[in-house]
Amino acid sequence: MIKGRSAWMALATVLVGAGMVAAIDGFVDTPMLPTAPWHVHDPNRPQPRVVTPGAVPSADPVKPPSDAVVLFDGTNFDQWVGDKGAPTWKLADGAMTAVPGQGGIRTKAKFGDCQLHVEWSSPDPPRGAGQDRGNSGVFLLNRYEIQVLDCYNAQTYADGTTGALYGAWPPLVNACRKPGEWNTYDIFFTGPRFKDGKVETPAYVTLLVNGIVVHNHQPELGATVWRAVAKYDPHPAEDVIALQEHGHPVRFRNIWVRPLGTYDEVQAAPETK
Ligand code: MG
Repeated sequence: MIKGRSAWMALATVLVGAGMVAAIDGFVDTPMLPTAPWHVHDPNRPQPRVVTPGAVPSADPVKPPSDAVVLFDGTNFDQWVGDKGAPTWKLADGAMTAVPGQGGIRTKAKFGDCQLHVEWSSPDPPRGAGQDRGNSGVFLLNRYEIQVLDCYNAQTYADGTTGALYGAWPPLVNACRKPGEWNTYDIFFTGPRFKDGKVETPAYVTLLVNGIVVHNHQPELGATVWRAVAKYDPHPAEDVIALQEHGHPVRFRNIWVRPLGTYDEVQAAPETK
């Protein structure tokens, strides 16, 4: 989540074949997770199994449903503000691209429980390794990061791989496409509920990466942090959706959100004249 190039990085070595040794970036001086026998960002935590997704998305992305709030249709930044004011990400060819050093962007509107569709593409040709390779992120409620990272033929600590609930849960499988190809995230998010200043129910995330379930109603440990165990602090039920700038020109397109209602909603009566 946070740039840590200056921090001490532990390296674990794993044998990946006869005579071959690859290093996985990560940390073993971090706290143990309360939910799994691993350190936060543990390089020894098993790598998610690689699954090759089905057909590559069309150059013409699937259109949003009729009740979606379109956050980005490839033509403008009307729904966004940048960390430093107006968005300064690059806009071209129906996509926006994070510009290193320019900070992240976030929606003007606030959302709570929602269905969120995001498409992203990592830099081609790829550059860097580990966390320093096509890193970005999608933040629900401005706090809960779903990792965006190029993990195609690339490894890093499991709780920081493509689609990870960063710092807590690796994806069930690694469904990352090749650099330059479009990945889809379909996120089904339920925000946490607080009572008397304490978390009553955690945030839950269901996530499909390229149509493959990688989280199934998985509870978040808390607001995303780096090198620490996440925890909950009370916050409003709605907040902005943010995209991370982490030093890499990751592209995004076709972003839309559907706030989730309740069962048995009464439909508004059709207008009559
Ligand atoms: Mg990230």
